[in-house]
Amino acid sequence: MTKSINFATYSSIKIGPKVDVLLLDNLTSLPKEYRLIGGANNLLVSPTPPPLAMLDKCFDFIAIHDDILHIGGATPSGKILSFAKKHNLLGFELMQKLPGTLGGMVAMNAGLKEWEIFNHLLAIRTENGWIPKEAIEHGYRFAHIHGIVYEATFTCKSGFDENLLVMFKKMRDNQPKEPSAGSCFKNPVGNYAGKLIEEVGFKGKRVGNMMFSNVHANFLVNLGGGTYEEAIELISSVKEAVFKRFGIRLEEEIIIL
Ligand SMILES: Cc1cc2nc3c(=O)[nH]c(=O)nc-3n(C[C@H](O)[C@H](O)[C@H](O)COP(=O)(O)OP(=O)(O)OC[C@H]3O[C@@H](n4cnc5c(N)ncnc54)[C@H](O)[C@@H]3O)c2cc1C
Repeated sequence: MTKSINFATYSSIKIGPKVDVLLLDNLTSLPKEYRLIGGANNLLVSPTPPPLAMLDKCFDFIAIHDDILHIGGATPSGKILSFAKKHNLLGFELMQKLPGTLGGMVAMNAGLKEWEIFNHLLAIRTENGWIPKEAIEHGYRFAHIHGIVYEATFTCKSGFDENLLVMFKKMRDNQPKEPSAGSCFKNPVGNYAGKLIEEVGFKGKRVGNMMFSNVHANFLVNLGGGTYEEAIELISSVKEAVFKRFGIRLEEEIIIL
C-alpha cells in the first residue's frame, strides 16, 4: 500500500515533490533502496528523492501497561505531550513545539540542550525485536538505530513539570516563524553553528526565497516558494565560508533526501 505525499505541504520546510510513499503496516524491514520518513520536520527532500516509506497510522498509539509507557513510532509529539500532561508523567515536556513522530525523535535523539528523548527511554522495538537503550549508541542529535522504530517504551514517573514548559517556551522565543526544518546544522563541539554562520556574514543571507533567518542564523527558512536548489546553494556556500575562515566543517542536522 502507498500514500501520496506532497512534500511542498507535508514537510515543515514546505519543499519537495509529490511522491507515492510506501506504507509499513507490520513489523517488516525496509527494502534496501528505500529511505524512511516520519513527520518530515527534519528533512529537505530533493525533486528526485530515493523511494520512500513511512509507518502506517496503526503505529500511532500510546498506552500504559504494567507501569511502562508504550508509544507507537508514528505517534506525533503533540499527542505524547498531551498524554504526559493528562497522566502527570515527567520527561516529555521537551516535546512542546518540537514537531515530529516518536520514531523520528528517537532516530534523531531529539531534544533541547540536556533534555533529550533518550533520557527516559527504556527500549525500542524494531523488526529485529526489542532493543534496550543500553545497546543503542546515541549522543547529541544522533542514535545509531539498525532498523525501524515501530514502538518504544519509557519510564512512567510522575511529575509533569509546567515550569519546564515555561522555560522551553522562552528558549524558543528566538526561533523564526517561517517554515524551516529546525536547526540546519549541528553545533560543532564547543561552538554554535548560528554564531559561525553569523560571523561569516550569512545571517539574513538570501538566495531566491530561501534565507538564513535574521532571527536565528542556524534556521534556514522558506520565505514562500523557496526551492531545493536555493536551499542547497545556501548550505554549500555557508559550509565553504565557515571552513575557509575557521577550519570548522559544519555538519548538517537536516537530512537531505
Ligand atoms: C520549528 C522546528 C523546531 C524544531 N526544534 C527542534 C528541537 O528543539 N530539537 C530537536 O532535536 N529537533 C528539532 N526540530 C527538528 C525535528 O523536530 C526533529 O528532528 C524530529 O525528531 C523529527 O521527527 P520527524 O518524525 O519529523 O522525522 P523526519 O524528519 O521525517 O525524519 C528524521 C529522521 O528520522 C528517521 N526516522 C523517522 N521515523 C523513523 C522511525 N520510525 N524509525 C527509525 N527512523 C526514523 C528518518 O529516516 C530520518 O533519518 C525542529 C523542527 C522544526 C521544524
